[in-house]
Amino acid sequence: MNIEELVKRAKEASKRAYSPYSGVRIGAAVLTKGGNIFEGCNIENISYGLSNCAERTAIFKAVSEGEREIVAIAVYGESEEFTRPCGACRQVMLEFNENMKVIRHGGDGFHEVTTIKKLLPQSFKPGGLLNEVNRGKKR
Ligand code: ZN
Repeated sequence: MNIEELVKRAKEASKRAYSPYSGVRIGAAVLTKGGNIFEGCNIENISYGLSNCAERTAIFKAVSEGEREIVAIAVYGESEEFTRPCGACRQVMLEFNENMKVIRHGGDGFHEVTTIKKLLPQSFKPGGLLNEVNRGKKR
């Protein structure tokens, strides 16, 4: 995995952000097991709750194109503060790979590499619910 390339793609995606309300531009790029990269940007809405983060945009693009095995995601923002994925994005990342690498652009060429498992400890995991559903079928 080329971290620099993934961060570069996230940076490119940030330029396409639709953020007339906050003015904050975030980009994300996901790398799939198949070796493909999908980019996403934040997309805001006048009804603020309908806005979507760059991370989820990129993940949803990958999944909608048939790629569910996501190896890594890079997040780029002009400020380090803006590259910390929100709770909703962390939950969506976990859905597709609890070992997903999360690369945050920290400015001046610094990148923090961690995993979604570390960013969302003691999480609500899809496996647990599926086990409960299957157990219910056996009753
Ligand atoms: Zn988010």
